[in-house]
Amino acid sequence: MMTPMGTGGATTTEIPAVRATGLSKRFRRKGQVIRALEDIDLEIEAGEFVSLIGPSGCGKSTLLRIVGGLLDPDGGTIAVGGAEPIHARRAKLFGFVPQVPALMPWRTVRKNVAVLTEVNKGGAGHQPLDPDATLELLDKVGLTDFLDAYPHELSGGMQQRVSLVRTFVLDAPVMLMDEPFSALDEITRAEMAYLLLDLWGTTGNTVVFVTHSIPEAVLLSDRVVSLRARPGRIAATEQIELPRPRTPGVEDTDEFHAHVASIRAALREGWER
Ligand code: ADP
Ligand code: MG
Repeated sequence: MMTPMGTGGATTTEIPAVRATGLSKRFRRKGQVIRALEDIDLEIEAGEFVSLIGPSGCGKSTLLRIVGGLLDPDGGTIAVGGAEPIHARRAKLFGFVPQVPALMPWRTVRKNVAVLTEVNKGGAGHQPLDPDATLELLDKVGLTDFLDAYPHELSGGMQQRVSLVRTFVLDAPVMLMDEPFSALDEITRAEMAYLLLDLWGTTGNTVVFVTHSIPEAVLLSDRVVSLRARPGRIAATEQIELPRPRTPGVEDTDEFHAHVASIRAALREGWER
């Protein structure tokens, strides 16, 4: 955590940040039953960076929404910081980074970043960063010259940087990111991954990151969880032993390529079933 205050002790190292056991979720649509998730066992430690990867429709967003208390499972148990996700949500333990940066077009960068802080200020539960720390984060991602710019004046990558900073300003112990870089071009995307690592590096916050890029998952994560579709199940879990902080050179190492190959093989097994 960036600030030792207001964390409520909800994410000590003894308590897993996220624990799911036997989780299942079905949707009904036009008389059909969709087995979105089945028998998901997943434990994520406080401070861990875990990626969920898998083909479209394998249940990644559904799992993220269950963790975040936005959706109830049909079976199994889910706890965040030892409590039901809905309680964790009320205690402001979650930060969400959506796929498309949902910035307010009528607010400047500065005001867009402040908006969640204003909503949360003074309430019970976890507290956001102060204005100085906020400016520091905006500087870190290269937005100092754009504090008074409006979203339409920014590139897609810059908008997503604002969205990232907005979430890090909340300093929420558990950050849920659903394919935040998937709308960006490959070069901007690579840059964003390192920015994210830079922002996250000093926090100790837990990140659950959804992606469909294997190299991106390897670069960012402590652990990569591969899912297969219909029903959405965990196919494999890969521990990423690459040293931190991760620098661009790591992407050219044999260890990096070995992780990518191993995850690709696990996902391929999923299609052959
Ligand atoms: P992913 O994020 O991995 O692409 P999702 O979690 O969005 O997958 O969806 C998993 C499956 O559940 C898909 O088959 C999808 O169509 C279905 N699904 C997701 N949300 C709903 C919903 N609200 N109603 C009906 N079906 C849904
Ligand atoms: Mg999704």
